Amino acid sequence: DTTTLWLLGDQLHPDLDALEDADDVLMIEATGFADRRPYHPHKLTLVFSAMRHVRDDLRERGHDVTYLRADSFGDGIETFLAERPDATPHIELMRPASHGAGDRLRELVEERGGSLTLRENELFWTTPADWREWAGEPAGAGGTSDGDGGSTDRTYRQEGWYRHVRRETGVLMDGDDPVGGEWNYDELNQETPPAGWTPPERPRFEPDALTRETHEWVVERFDTWGDDSLDGFAWPVTREEALAALDTFVERRLPAFGRYEDAMVEGEPFLAHSLLSPAINLGLLDPHEPVRAVEAAYEERGVDPGAYDPEPSEATTLDAFGDAVGTEEGDAAEDAPTANGSESTERPPVPLNAVEGFIRQVIGWREFTRHVYREAMPEMAEANQLDQSRSLPPAYWDGDTDMTCLSEAVGHVREYGYAHHIERLMVLSNFALIYGTDPAELNEWFHLGFVDAYHWVTTPNVVAMGSFGTDVLSSKPYASSGNYVNRMSDYCASCPYTVSRTTGEGACPFNALYWDFLKENEETLRGTGRMGLMYSHVDNKDDEEWAEIRERADRVRELAAEGDV
Ligand code: FAD
Repeated sequence: DTTTLWLLGDQLHPDLDALEDADDVLMIEATGFADRRPYHPHKLTLVFSAMRHVRDDLRERGHDVTYLRADSFGDGIETFLAERPDATPHIELMRPASHGAGDRLRELVEERGGSLTLRENELFWTTPADWREWAGEPAGAGGTSDGDGGSTDRTYRQEGWYRHVRRETGVLMDGDDPVGGEWNYDELNQETPPAGWTPPERPRFEPDALTRETHEWVVERFDTWGDDSLDGFAWPVTREEALAALDTFVERRLPAFGRYEDAMVEGEPFLAHSLLSPAINLGLLDPHEPVRAVEAAYEERGVDPGAYDPEPSEATTLDAFGDAVGTEEGDAAEDAPTANGSESTERPPVPLNAVEGFIRQVIGWREFTRHVYREAMPEMAEANQLDQSRSLPPAYWDGDTDMTCLSEAVGHVREYGYAHHIERLMVLSNFALIYGTDPAELNEWFHLGFVDAYHWVTTPNVVAMGSFGTDVLSSKPYASSGNYVNRMSDYCASCPYTVSRTTGEGACPFNALYWDFLKENEETLRGTGRMGLMYSHVDNKDDEEWAEIRERADRVRELAAEGDV
């Protein structure tokens, strides 16, 4: 008897135990999934190109890979089994991250006379058992063999989970205490860069022949949304490129990552973000790898929280003890593909707030959202505790708006299939939230528009965090007026709307929508979480002010719905 490992398109790591245990490998390129929604062409190019590269890479490493193109997984499995009528192989599959997919795929194989077992997904750091150890048993009735609890009744908070994982894994720990004495240095991670600061250049991996060929096919074969040229496409599509992307991040971008993590700058879509989510979500990187690399960088080049100011003029670099660091070559493996932006040989120090902030995103937020998704699906996908039902304004599709912040953020998504976290949360989902968008529709938009989007990660981020469709993972909505955008960006300076005004023509659309949203949802929100201060401002407004706010909010909604905001 033989065992075939069925490798899905987001399970592309070459060093899996599952690969070691298998006799051969099956990969199915199913076009049906890509027909479901008008995905960004870069997303489809990325997934299919990475699959094709990994197929070739695995074959070079000596694996026997059957690579099938089919309309659906069902058709692919049928072909696979038909080619082996005498010795039906047993199929193994790492538990897919998408809700219920493991059971569905098992049934699909069994219906065609094959057998399939699910095994742990090695591409997350923590397991469902680790989660249960922290969270206890799921709240929902029943649950599937995917370990899904199926309920949004319980609530979970990331910070507690994050500390638990740090303690359990020893990551960034000094015995029983967090390195540096604090668990979280977020208060140092809310600065905006000074004028003239140039972010480290984005690493670019030039599309090779296989990526170009894949892209041509994608553009011709599928209905897509977003820039269909390859000009802005620079994502890693191979394991080697993913490792080079990680290296470039750790060497060049990590020092400023924390400090400017929440900032937005006109014309700068990437700032010092890692840009690693596409590679991590495809499995080209295992989440241990970026975390260990960042920890190692701290050991080599670490400085106190906030002790390094990543100014352009700052040429001298200091090590953990304040000594000047030499200018030897970095650690980059010599034969690794080089990304541009990594030519300089100076190795800037990495402050603890950057290191801790990054590690929290990965072992805190990323693992947390995955488990909350498992627990809260299928309800979470439809959760809508505020009963919001508006359609997404046309500006999300065509990018045509006078609002600089929205125009920038939508523009980044159209051009790159990427916007960084604060644009996603505090511009794109914040505006949709206070405008009154149906969370499921917003989730759809995020899912099709972003290169790193998968149902398991958009749903908790968009429906729960961004739309407050449920309080399963946060106690208050991420809603704000134009003040937040003004504080964290340079967008308002060039915007024709006036951020300091709430009412009347020309007032920043965020402002009236924000107050109107609080008023409209008072019953649900007044008592929740940390909303007391906001509602004290609500209480201080008189009837006349409310009438003007309502008038402006209605007007903004009307303009936005007509594509005229
Ligand atoms: P960095 O800022 O460099 O962060 C480092 C890493 O931390 C990321 O690569 C990612 O792996 C992880 N991470 C950080 N925050 C989260 C989070 N909240 N959930 C899961 N992982 C996190 N992330 C996706 O991977 N796919 C999505 O489709 C997605 N949609 C989002 C939608 C909304 C409305 C919001 C608020 C967040 C979403 N996120 C999503 C989370 C986060 O914004 C992205 O992971 C991040 O912006 C990716 O860019 P980066 O790699 O440069 O991240």
